[in-house]
Amino acid sequence: MEAVVSYTTQMDAARQGIVTPEMEIVAAKENMGVEKLRELIAKGQVIIPANKNHQALSPNGIGSALKTKINVNLGTSRDCVDLDMEMEKVNEAVAMGAEAIMDLSSFGDTQKFRRKLTAECPATIGTVPIYDAVVYYHKPLKDITTEEWLSIVEMHAKDGVDFLTIHCGINKSTAKRFKDAKRLTNIVSRGGSIIFAWMEMTGKENPFYENYDWVLDICRKYDVTISLGDACRPGCIEDASDISQIEELVTLGELTKRAWEKDVQVMIEGPGHMPLNQIQANMEIQKTICKGAPFYVLGPLVTDIAPGYDHITSAIGGAVAATYGASFLCYVTPAEHLRLPDLNDVKEGIIAAKIAAHAADIAKGIPGASDWDKKMSTARKKLDWEEMFDLAIDPEKARRYRESARPEKEDTCSMCGNFCAVKNMNRILDGEIVSIFDE
Ligand code: SF4
Repeated sequence: MEAVVSYTTQMDAARQGIVTPEMEIVAAKENMGVEKLRELIAKGQVIIPANKNHQALSPNGIGSALKTKINVNLGTSRDCVDLDMEMEKVNEAVAMGAEAIMDLSSFGDTQKFRRKLTAECPATIGTVPIYDAVVYYHKPLKDITTEEWLSIVEMHAKDGVDFLTIHCGINKSTAKRFKDAKRLTNIVSRGGSIIFAWMEMTGKENPFYENYDWVLDICRKYDVTISLGDACRPGCIEDASDISQIEELVTLGELTKRAWEKDVQVMIEGPGHMPLNQIQANMEIQKTICKGAPFYVLGPLVTDIAPGYDHITSAIGGAVAATYGASFLCYVTPAEHLRLPDLNDVKEGIIAAKIAAHAADIAKGIPGASDWDKKMSTARKKLDWEEMFDLAIDPEKARRYRESARPEKEDTCSMCGNFCAVKNMNRILDGEIVSIFDE
């Protein structure tokens, strides 16, 4: 007779020595032995966000020993309440390689869209219940009660959300530190600013911090991963690594330990805006304080001066962060700081984040990561344009660019024409005459 296996979360299973079906799938995706993966999950260094009620999920692992994953923020808003159109964006994002979708819906029937996502979408789904509470209760912020904040967490967990961003780190003590220390751009986290405002207006403690054990019990019941939100992430390079950010990180480290005591999977959210030279140190500090829990970075944007190009400022920071320990990159689109992203912005943001993630995977030596590059370089050496398009991270753009400026000689491109170094080297090494000018 087969033994009955019983566990609550993936972390609980891993600690009991149980290999779950989700672990098998992730191990295969990562080309990693399942026993090694199980050990990393048991230690909290890898998470598999997999809510028991997310029926359509194709699980992914997140951790610095694994391939770097990316998240795409989508969801309904006052300007876009068409659920089918939003679902189309979700499907495109998944087809382009996004492993996770954060549903940041802020208008209309948010539960309907959330349930549609967990019923149909194979990506890891995350939400921020704090935003949703404001939409759901439809009343002034200060009138939302502690019980109401908490019941939204349970609602999202029941709906099958795999990870919940909860800003528990901004408690009365960190809020005081933030007010005393003064910053150039205050609090730029949406959830953080909401909960800080509520605390200021009511004089009460952060309900998620005060009732953290209750939150953990809900997470344990449904196997929801808690994503510890960073209310005090720096919103400009001037505020990077300041006392508010570090004070909150220390609190997040304590909350990580408490979650692990209940077998709840955790990741930590991180900066933000940050100069390039501070990123490595921040990754090391996070790893030390949070004992290697996966780090989910929102950028970091390495300069503040590029609105319209913040997919680039964040990809630079994201590549460095992931090289030194971050395991999950939140995409940033060119529309950041300017407007709600349109479809093209979403696409550019995903491509930029995928490049950053891949660059980091090469740098940190993820097995097989550079095989893709080798294939591309081989096709380039052969001047095999069709093969190059097939391998390109954005095949449509690569093809469109070449078509827009056809070369005189088909086997070159319009960049150098007869001076094509690749073509000329192939020929000279094959013993042919290369004259260039009269060809
Ligand atoms: S023409 Fe220049 S840019 Fe184009 S393939 Fe040849 S060497 Fe590369």
